[in-house]
Amino acid sequence: MSEKPKAVVIGAGVGGLASAACLAQTQKYDVTVYDRMSFAGGRFTQHDHDGFQIPTGAVHMIPHGRKGPFAKLLLGKKISGGLDLGRHGVEFLPTTKFACRMKDGKLQEANSVYGILPWFSVRDTLNLPRLLLKRANHPWGDETEDGRTWMSKRFSEEFVDFADAFANFAISLRFDQMPASTVVKMLQNSFWSDRPAVPKGGCKGVINGLRADLRENGARVKLSNEVTEILPGDAEESTKGNRFCIGVRRRGRQEGIWVGADSIIHNGGHPNLLAALSDDFEVAAGVREQVRNTQAVGGIGFVFALDDDIPHRSSGVTMLPNLERVGGYVLPTFSEPSLAPEGKHMMITHQHVPDPSVKSEIDKGREDLHDAIPWLADHGEELCVHTYHRNWPCNRAPQGAELPSDIGVEGVRLVGDGVKGHGWMMVEGIAANVPEAVASVSGAMDAR
Ligand SMILES: Cc1cc2nc3c(=O)[nH]c(=O)nc-3n(C[C@H](O)[C@H](O)[C@H](O)COP(=O)(O)OP(=O)(O)OC[C@H]3O[C@@H](n4cnc5c(N)ncnc54)[C@H](O)[C@@H]3O)c2cc1C
Repeated sequence: MSEKPKAVVIGAGVGGLASAACLAQTQKYDVTVYDRMSFAGGRFTQHDHDGFQIPTGAVHMIPHGRKGPFAKLLLGKKISGGLDLGRHGVEFLPTTKFACRMKDGKLQEANSVYGILPWFSVRDTLNLPRLLLKRANHPWGDETEDGRTWMSKRFSEEFVDFADAFANFAISLRFDQMPASTVVKMLQNSFWSDRPAVPKGGCKGVINGLRADLRENGARVKLSNEVTEILPGDAEESTKGNRFCIGVRRRGRQEGIWVGADSIIHNGGHPNLLAALSDDFEVAAGVREQVRNTQAVGGIGFVFALDDDIPHRSSGVTMLPNLERVGGYVLPTFSEPSLAPEGKHMMITHQHVPDPSVKSEIDKGREDLHDAIPWLADHGEELCVHTYHRNWPCNRAPQGAELPSDIGVEGVRLVGDGVKGHGWMMVEGIAANVPEAVASVSGAMDAR
C-alpha cells in the first residue's frame, strides 16, 4: 500500500488530466483519476469516423498557439512550472494564417494581426492600439456596459461584427452577452498572443501525451467509473485515515465502492460537485446560489468532409460575420493532414444557440453555411452535426461569469471550463487556473 497522500481527480477532461499530471510529476502523491465515460479527454478529444477525426467538442484549435497559458503549462519546461509534454510527442502546429474572413462570398486571409487592418476603416486602425493598451487585467468592477456597446463607441460596425463573429465561433457567446472588460481582455489576449495552433494528432494527441505522462509517474486513470458521493473520511472504516471518503460506481455494476482521498480536484463542473458533496461539508456563503444562477452555454457544430479541390487552402479560423447563426469555420487539416483521410479535408463550424429549439437552429445553421460559402455544395459532404448542451456544453460558465475554483471546502478545488482566468478563452482559461488549484490541494495534503 502506498503511504503517500491520496489525490483523487474527478473527471478526465483536459483540466483534470493536466492537474493530475502536475500532481503526479511531484512524485509526492498517489494520484487516481476517475471518469464516468469509457474514454478520456471529455470535450477535448475525438472519435475516428472513416479516417475523419470527429471532435467530442473542441475543434482542434489551441486558441493562443505556442504562447498562451495552455502551451506554457503543457509544453513549458518543468523548471518553469510546465509539464514538458514534448517528451511524449505533444506538439502544436501553427495555423497557416492568423485569421480569415469570408465577405460576400470572397475569402480574405491575414498573416498577422496587422494583416486584418486593411479590411476595416482608418478609425479602426487608429483605435486598435488603444484597445490593446487599455487596462483590463481585472474585471472593471460593477460593470453596467456590455462588450458590444463598449466596442461600438470606438470601432466601425464592420469591425465589431467581425470580432463578434469570432466570439460566436470561439465561445458561443455574443459581445452583448459579456461584460466590456471581458471582451477587451479576450481581444487583447488574442491579439498579443501567437496565432492559433492545431495539436499534432488533434486534441487526442494532447490527451495521449497527458496519459503517457501519468503512466510514467505511476498515476492511474480509471474510465467508466463515476464518482457519486463525497463524504468525510471517517464515514467508512476503510477511509477513516483520509480526509474524504468517495463513493465510486463502476459502469455495469450495482454495488459501489468507497475510496479514500486526502484531496480532490473536481473537473466535472460545480453542479456535479455540489450534488455529490454531503451536508457534512460547509460550502462558502453565496456559492450555491451563484452556481444555481449560472447557465452553461450551448452551441451547434457541423463537420463536413471536403474534397481536395476546395479553393480555401488555409487553416486560419474563418469568421463569417453577419450571418444569422454561424460564427465561423476552420479547416484544421491544412495544419494537421492526419485529421482526415489522404486527399480529403475536414471543415468544422460553430454557431451559438439563441433559441432552445435545437432542430430549427440546425436548419438555420445549415442554411447560413450554404449561403455564405459558395463552394460548399460542390465540394463538401455533411458528416455530422453535434449539439452541445446540458452536461456536455460549449462552456460550463459563460465567459465573463466564471465560478470560483475554491468553494470553501479545504482540500477541494475545481478545474475546467467553469473556472477560467479573466479573459482567457477555452483551454487557455482552463490552463490559467490549473497551477493555483494544484498548489492549493498540494498545500492541503502537505499540511496533514
Ligand atoms: C463545440 C465546441 C468546440 C470547442 N472548440 C474548442 C477549441 O477548438 N479549442 C479550445 O481550446 N476549446 C474548445 N472548446 C472548449 C473545450 O473543448 C472545453 O473547454 C474543454 O474541453 C473542457 O475541458 P474540462 O477540463 O472542463 O473537462 P470536460 O471536457 O468537461 O471533461 C470533464 C470530464 O469529467 C467527467 N465527469 C463529470 N462528472 C463526473 C463524475 N461525477 N465522475 C466521474 N467523471 C465525471 C466527464 O465524463 C468528462 O469526461 C470547444 C468546446 C465545444 C463544445
